[in-house]
Amino acid sequence: MKNISENFDKNNCCGCEACVQVCPQKAVCMKEDGEGFRYPEVNFDLCVDCGLCRKICQYIESVEKNTEEQLAFGGHINDSEILNESTSGGAFSAIADCFCDENYVIFGAESKGLDVFHSYIMDKKDLARFRRSKYSQSIIGTSYADAEKFLKDGKKVLFSGTPCQIAGLKAFLRGRQYTNLLTVEVICEGVPSPLFVRKLDEKIRKTKNAYITDLDYRYKDSNKWDYEVMRISYTSLHNSASGTIKSDRWFNPFWSVWLNHLMSRPSCYGCLYTTHNRVADISLGDLWGVHLYCPDLYNSNRGASLIIANTKHGKMIVETILEENFTGRELDFSQALKYQGPMRKSIAENPDRERFMNDLHTMDYDSLCKKWAKPSSLKLLISKYVYGTNRQKVWWWKMKNRFKSQK
Ligand SMILES: Cc1cc2nc3c(=O)[nH]c(=O)nc-3n(C[C@H](O)[C@H](O)[C@H](O)COP(=O)(O)OP(=O)(O)OC[C@H]3O[C@@H](n4cnc5c(N)ncnc54)[C@H](O)[C@@H]3O)c2cc1C
Repeated sequence: MKNISENFDKNNCCGCEACVQVCPQKAVCMKEDGEGFRYPEVNFDLCVDCGLCRKICQYIESVEKNTEEQLAFGGHINDSEILNESTSGGAFSAIADCFCDENYVIFGAESKGLDVFHSYIMDKKDLARFRRSKYSQSIIGTSYADAEKFLKDGKKVLFSGTPCQIAGLKAFLRGRQYTNLLTVEVICEGVPSPLFVRKLDEKIRKTKNAYITDLDYRYKDSNKWDYEVMRISYTSLHNSASGTIKSDRWFNPFWSVWLNHLMSRPSCYGCLYTTHNRVADISLGDLWGVHLYCPDLYNSNRGASLIIANTKHGKMIVETILEENFTGRELDFSQALKYQGPMRKSIAENPDRERFMNDLHTMDYDSLCKKWAKPSSLKLLISKYVYGTNRQKVWWWKMKNRFKSQK
């Protein structure tokens, strides 16, 4: 047998869906498993065993990574409204704005309620649909095939997604190079099971007679001193009444459970893209460590982006945004790498993952949180709110500089 089902191993499937889109017989489809992750399934009545799905699988035929010298940059978009709507420093919007002048199409991940899926827009005015990190694996649908069609038609295509989705696109294109394609990846430390937020939705349905309409995992709340909160928007099941619930990001159960690596996709624990060489033209991330190695870019905690230009094409675009719509500067690449775990090593599987996953099926949201979310430690509370926040460190840095310049 030559199709994808032979020796299938969930650890070696990132769910990029390239095998689904490449099948001329439409014999492969994605099915959700008990943990909420989607995997390919072959319909043997339709399959002619041509082997195409195996040939383009990134775990069987690895996708080439760029080996050119990489440059790192940090900073934020100049438009403060867009910066507020973006997860980090709005680098994605700055890049889209510069690359897409005419005859373009932009691919990205958008959310509808709890679901996340890839789609495309042909007008930059709609870019807000793709802004904000949605911490759930997006359903790719027909995006690779659509992108290829646009590329062949001569349109400029900006394709954004996780590293394995960019690799999925490259695998789907089977080595065909297009000068009109720009790929932008988010630096990614894995995707969580969607079952946890579905439990949260169950709770909202029971307690508020409402359902979740939007999840903003890192809402920049200008009313909050430390800025980032998790914001849940809900609407009544019976009328149009709506509301929001906000909680500090760092003390929220979702973040606690996910960052403890209890519910990541199995393949994320052995991710193929946690190296400094990348598949995409440009990699985007949070500027972790900003208060330590480039405090001038801290931007009052309103968001700062790390941009890694991996190819000549990527470098050209980054140079343009720095001239046109983005405030920032080049950084030392090795320093940037030091603070970017997902560019160096995969996350480690939590030994309790299986027990957590079993509980995810049987327990309600509150019981799950009580058992598995770490309570806010005194140390974290103190470091966040009393002493040593990044904001304070940057304030001290500014004071020191002012003092030095007066001397
Ligand atoms: C699942 C996930 C894990 C991440 N992990 C890290 C990390 O460990 N370290 C780090 O530094 N940065 C991480 N990021 C990236 C970071 O959160 C920002 O997305 C990135 O810095 C871009 O922010 P921005 O302000 O430029 O633009 P924004 O406008 O906020 O970014 C939007 C971009 O993200 C893409 N996107 C959003 N959600 C998804 C999704 N579910 N799947 C695919 N693409 C998506 C959109 O298509 C668009 O290109 C992660 C992002 C995601 C989605």
